[in-house]
Amino acid sequence: MVYAADENRYEKMPVRRVSDSGLILPALSFGLWRNLGDEKPLANSREVMLKAFDNGIYSFDNASNYGPSNGSAEETFGAVYQSDLKPYRDELVITTKAGYHMWPGPLGEFSGRKTLHAALDLSLKRMHLDYVDIFYAHRFDPNTNLEETAVALNDLVRQGKALYVGVSNYTAEQTAAIIEIFKDLHTPFVVNQVSYNLLHREEAEADGMLDLLNDNHAGVVAYGPLAEGLLTNRYLDGFPADFPLHRTNANLAQDQEATVAKLNALNAVAADRGQTLAQLAMAWLLKDPRVASIVIGASSLEHLLDNVKVTDNMTLSDEELAKIEQILK
Ligand code: NDP
Repeated sequence: MVYAADENRYEKMPVRRVSDSGLILPALSFGLWRNLGDEKPLANSREVMLKAFDNGIYSFDNASNYGPSNGSAEETFGAVYQSDLKPYRDELVITTKAGYHMWPGPLGEFSGRKTLHAALDLSLKRMHLDYVDIFYAHRFDPNTNLEETAVALNDLVRQGKALYVGVSNYTAEQTAAIIEIFKDLHTPFVVNQVSYNLLHREEAEADGMLDLLNDNHAGVVAYGPLAEGLLTNRYLDGFPADFPLHRTNANLAQDQEATVAKLNALNAVAADRGQTLAQLAMAWLLKDPRVASIVIGASSLEHLLDNVKVTDNMTLSDEELAKIEQILK
């Protein structure tokens, strides 16, 4: 059946301008890290992605290495784009990244010039696109000089293959350093995408990152807002020792008892607000306008629909915020 997007989609999801840039993102973006690649049925991925778009989530986040197999999440996105989303290209914000291991050999990772150029060309092919909206350096490269990375990203913009550039997993110091080079080049730098959730705040909040970005026409994009699903009502009685946490949340498994106690206390705050824990976790991130968007990962329709209901109540009182701080201490 030919897909026709819900006509009311833009009434469902609030949007947020990234600082004072021209880029406007939906409060929730949709990520394809590891739940919509080659190990998952395309029909389900298609259904969830289109339901996301129908709910006003017009930003889709990918990376060269997402899958599980490298490239397969981009292929999933490309298939759904070809079959259904192509007529909506001008409405979509499509992002991808390069820098984690992508192909064999020393040039298949990090942020040298050849690597970034080859990676974006491959991503565009897999997604059937002429350009992406944001192209990210996925992680800081300790060996390549920052100027080479910045110039390579800038050149990709000049070639029309990306509209904006971003960095991901950069510290505030690394971000400040590359911003200085981008300023000289007039590169449209817009975001640092970092791990940020109720239980892992260090990276986004350390060393004035949020202000640094906002002052430089950019914002934070928060990934892993639910700590890979821990911040939901699924693990209030505990979680398996091999729960697949992202490396940035790995310490939450070290003292499982303390983590589960926090989940339960936060769940009680959510219940008092008539929300699920997932919705509270997202509302808490969105309280700060310097957070440009949060990238959720969901392969189940039920989870996606639970998450979009965050829009029913996104305001937290001072009392609720204080209670949350007390729990997280
Ligand atoms: P989340 O924190 O949103 O966790 C997603 C997990 O939570 C999935 O397993 C999902 O299950 C489950 N889940 C989602 N909603 C609910 C709900 N309402 N109730 C119960 N369970 C739920 O995000 P991820 O850690 O997956 O990351 C999201 C995106 O962020 C990625 O896809 C990627 O785009 C980006 N990212 C970027 C990184 C970077 O280095 N820049 C690193 C990691 C992620 P199910 O699949 O069954 O629906």
